[in-house]
Amino acid sequence: MSPLIDRHGRTKRKLRISLTDRCNFRCTYCMPEHPDWLPRASLLGRGEIVRLAGLFVDHGIDQIRLTGGEPLLRRDLSECVREISALRARGLARLSMTTNASRIAPKARELVEAGIDDFNVSLDAIDPDTFRRLTRREIAPVLDGIDALVDAGAKVKLNAVVIRGDNEKDVVPLLEWAMARGLPLRFIEYMPLDAPGHWKRDAVVSEAEMLAAIGERHHVESVPRSHDPATPYVVDGRYPLGIISTVSNPFCSTCDRLRITATGELFTCLFSPIGTPLGARLREGLDDEALAAQVARAVWLKDAGYASRPGPVDRPLTMHAMGG
Ligand code: SAM
Ligand code: SF4
Repeated sequence: MSPLIDRHGRTKRKLRISLTDRCNFRCTYCMPEHPDWLPRASLLGRGEIVRLAGLFVDHGIDQIRLTGGEPLLRRDLSECVREISALRARGLARLSMTTNASRIAPKARELVEAGIDDFNVSLDAIDPDTFRRLTRREIAPVLDGIDALVDAGAKVKLNAVVIRGDNEKDVVPLLEWAMARGLPLRFIEYMPLDAPGHWKRDAVVSEAEMLAAIGERHHVESVPRSHDPATPYVVDGRYPLGIISTVSNPFCSTCDRLRITATGELFTCLFSPIGTPLGARLREGLDDEALAAQVARAVWLKDAGYASRPGPVDRPLTMHAMGG
C-alpha cells in the first residue's frame, strides 16, 4: 500500500503511540503539578490501538514506540505489546518503549518476551535531590528498573532533559555514570511542551553549552548523523552520546515521525496546534480505507516543523498527553 509522504517530501517510517496520558511522576518540564487527565472513556482500548497501529504499518510505518504518560500504568500493557508485536508479519521491524522505569522491575522480562526490542528510560539526573526536584518523585525505583531491564537482557538507552538552574550541573556526573555502565545516553534540550507559561527560552541549555561542559573533562568527537533526531558524538573515543537540539538547531528537514495520542488523535508534529481525531472517527464506524484516507491527508499537510514557528504551541495538550 502507498507510503505516507508529506508535502515537503518526507516519508514517514516511525510512529509513537501513547498508551495512556496517566503518569505516576510529575516531571516539571512535562506536565502541571495537578494535571487534568483525559476522560477515561475517551482513551483507546487495546483493539482500537492495535487496529490503528496495523493501518499505519500497512502504509509503511516500520518502527513503533509505545509511550505516554507512563506505559506501565496500563493494566493490559503486555497484551498490547504482544498484539502490536504480531504486526511484524505485516512489516513492523522494531517495537520500542519509552518509560520512567519506576514500575518496570517486576515486568521487565515479560515485556522483553512480549516483543519490546529496546527501551528508552528517562533519567534526568543521578543526584537524588536533583532528580526529586525535577520529577517530584524518588530515584531509587528508577535505578532498580534500569538494573532489572539490563538483567533481562534488554537494550536500554537513557534520555535526559537539561534545564538551566535545575540539572545542568548534573550533565557530566550523569554522563560519567552512564559511561561506567555502558548505557548510551541522549541529552535533550528543554522544549516548550509543558504547562502553559512555564517554559522560558533562558532555561534551555543548548547543545553547544552541554558540549562545552562535557569538553572540560572529556574528549568529544562529532560523527556523521543518521536519521535519528539526536546529533551523534563519541566521548573518549568509545562511548556513544546523542544530543537532541530541537530548540537551538531543529532537525525537521528529514523528520519521519508521526504520533497518536491515547485518545487516537494523530499529530504529525510534536508542535502541531491541532490533531486529526482518528479515534473518534474509528468509533463512528469509519472503515480502514476511509481512516487511511484521513491519515494520508493529514500527513500530506504536515508543517515544515519547529524551525518554521519556534516557541510554545497554543494548544491544551502538554507533553504527557501528547506522548513524548
Ligand atoms: N513517561 C515516560 C518517560 O518519562 O520516559 C514516557 C513519556 S515522556 C512524555 C517521553 C519523553 O518526553 C521523556 O524522555 C521526557 O523526558 C520527554 N519530555 C517531556 N517533556 C519534555 C520537554 N518539555 N522537553 C523535552 N523533552 C520532554
Ligand atoms: Fe511522566 Fe514521563 Fe512526563 Fe515524567 S516525562 S511526567 S515520567 S510522562
